[in-house]
Amino acid sequence: MGIEALLRLHSGLPRQGPGSDASTREALRRLPKLGESPSIVYLGCGPGRQTLVLAREFGVPVLAVDVLAPFLEELERAAEAAGLSEMVRAHCGSMDHLAVAHESLDLVWSEGALYNVGVDQQLRYLLPLMKSGGVVAFSELSWLSADPIEELRVYWELYPGMRTTAANVAAYEGIGYRVVDQFVLPESDWWTEYYNPLLARIERLRAEAERDAALAEVLTETEREIDVYRRFSRDYGYVFYLCRKD
Ligand code: SAH
Repeated sequence: MGIEALLRLHSGLPRQGPGSDASTREALRRLPKLGESPSIVYLGCGPGRQTLVLAREFGVPVLAVDVLAPFLEELERAAEAAGLSEMVRAHCGSMDHLAVAHESLDLVWSEGALYNVGVDQQLRYLLPLMKSGGVVAFSELSWLSADPIEELRVYWELYPGMRTTAANVAAYEGIGYRVVDQFVLPESDWWTEYYNPLLARIERLRAEAERDAALAEVLTETEREIDVYRRFSRDYGYVFYLCRKD
């Protein structure tokens, strides 16, 4: 799939995955207490909505990592507009190549992004980098029903890593974390700031897509994804997991 077409569809949208400031705050409310001046990294920040919530909440600079420079530029502009430039350090690079010392991180946050390198693999990579008592807080696509119908199971072969919440908890604990809390993001988190703006963008790009096959393909796939969610939102969702290194 063309990265240019994907960026045309996605750049400038409020967020690049399901979520809301309210859910970010809900996860913060459930977070075990961290020490003074915690060291915080955001992985796969995209346009950075949540990075700004964290910077405001903790009042310390947050290292925000993403592989796509255009998203980091959006984050820097948003931070400046919010008067939070000093609180954001944008770094263009991959989340599995962090230049940070062992046992140095108090909090790693990542909404809808760890799957890019694989959640289990990334949790394994992070374990030695976390301080004892440090938390990895992230959201991940999860089955909510144990027995989804065939059509849905076949659709999500797109993401073979998808497991039930219980299987995810068991896997994360097997890697060496304690899952101290978890909650399902509300359906409104999929629509208000993610799928609705995306649908509006699709309409705007429709005419252009007639002359651009890569763009047309991305639009069709995205509409299909949204249609599947509309019909089956009770069977899968985003779950926020709070994983602590004891
Ligand atoms: N957390 C943001 C973005 C989610 S989309 C939000 O909720 O709005 C996933 C993000 O992960 C994208 O911005 C993508 O560029 C980024 N990404 C993909 N692979 C990555 C990698 N290996 N390292 C860091 N970021 C990555």
